[in-house]
Amino acid sequence: VKSAATRNELFDTAAIQKLDSAHYLHPFTDFKQLNENGARVMVRGEGIYLWDSQGKKVLDGMSGLWCVNVGYGRTSISEAVYRQMETLPFYNSFFNTTNVPAVQLATKLAEIAPPGFQHVFFTGSGSEGNDTNLRMVRRYWDLMGYQERHTIISRHNAYHGSTVAGASLGGMDGMHAQGGLPIPGIVHIGQPNYLEAGQGMTEDEFGLKAASWLEDKILEVGADKVAAFIGEPVQGAGGVIIPPATYWPEIQRICDKYGILLIADEVICGFGRLGKWFASELFGIRPDLITFAKGVTSGYVPLGGVLVGDRVAKVLIEKGGDFNHGFTYSGHPVACAAALENIRIIEAEQLVQRVDEDTGPYLKQRFATLGDHPLVGYTSSCGFVAGLNLVRSKGATVHENVAFDEALSVGMVCRGYMFNNGMIMRAVGDRMIIAPPLVMTRAQIDEMVALIRHCLDLTYEDIKQRGWV
Ligand code: PMP
Repeated sequence: VKSAATRNELFDTAAIQKLDSAHYLHPFTDFKQLNENGARVMVRGEGIYLWDSQGKKVLDGMSGLWCVNVGYGRTSISEAVYRQMETLPFYNSFFNTTNVPAVQLATKLAEIAPPGFQHVFFTGSGSEGNDTNLRMVRRYWDLMGYQERHTIISRHNAYHGSTVAGASLGGMDGMHAQGGLPIPGIVHIGQPNYLEAGQGMTEDEFGLKAASWLEDKILEVGADKVAAFIGEPVQGAGGVIIPPATYWPEIQRICDKYGILLIADEVICGFGRLGKWFASELFGIRPDLITFAKGVTSGYVPLGGVLVGDRVAKVLIEKGGDFNHGFTYSGHPVACAAALENIRIIEAEQLVQRVDEDTGPYLKQRFATLGDHPLVGYTSSCGFVAGLNLVRSKGATVHENVAFDEALSVGMVCRGYMFNNGMIMRAVGDRMIIAPPLVMTRAQIDEMVALIRHCLDLTYEDIKQRGWV
């Protein structure tokens, strides 16, 4: 059988778009607007590139949705999936049964996780992982005899998924506005966004300040009522917000002081994205629970879960009694087989070390050169995530940059030029972000940065003509 990667298939784009509009409601989408414009149809991927139904090649600067860490077209993953499907396509882990790939993957995850993690709870997605966290931390405190300790503290502009608990834990106003969220028992503090709130402070001063909001909130809610704090080590969907170096150690200190559980949502940051298996290692934190998904299978098949640290696992196991939670697809053998092969590739190709020591620093250096572009007011990066802010004019400090009027949606204009010129870069307001596949080489980083600069030029010409600068 020839794989789709080698077949030169022809697609009737208009026909697919018509059926797409007629039947397919896309996630996070304005359906009316999509139906007017028609979706772009992706048909094939190889390495860091994608091809659409019209044969156009694009460089995928977002690794799909922050997940295709090993790149597209990995036959050894499809073969592992095929073999597992032939052997045992499904069996559940309820009723005291198990399956071999799930056991092997749980063992492997305990090996690559930070010290103190011996257990894993599998789910089908990152959102379900965070739903699991919510129920698990409350169950932990119940078993400890503190039934009052149920409040979870999160942050504004956090993203923790789209289920009811996930969206409630998240801090996206637009999501809370739909469906009466957040649910009770979840409160939010400010995010460590230096650009937004760090005026008049050094980054390090601001990091301590932003962490102090956690202590303020704990005292407001009552320390005896707080179960856990949850945060993404680097906020992804919120716009690649990299906290000051002082932030996480201070958060850890505050959690320790009040005995509060720390949940690191590493759905994006895990599996090498920031040059460590888990970003908790990079920021020097010792979380009690780690949410993962995406990079665990490089997105080839859905899988997520929670790494459960010894403090929580010990109580759940030793106190006994059912944990009344789980999914049909918890420990799905095919997903676990894909994850095992994906992790084998990451190890064999030393992708974590490469990002840490070679391509990550190189990306940082190359990406920072975009800072001299007239549209770019601020660049930042960490491992294999990076972002830049489009500004109307630059000031002496980042806080004196002048932003565009939000209504102009300059980020979306820029994203359009990127997309139409072979580069996938995401817009969060006027911040343009990337999270490329970890297999990207130095030469491909050069190619990407040149492509981004070219598209910034096109954007600049366009908005000059519209009189926006
Ligand atoms: N947490 C974080 C930090 C995420 O970035 C995401 C997805 N972008 C999720 C949770 C939710 O994962 P999923 O879409 O697999 O439910």
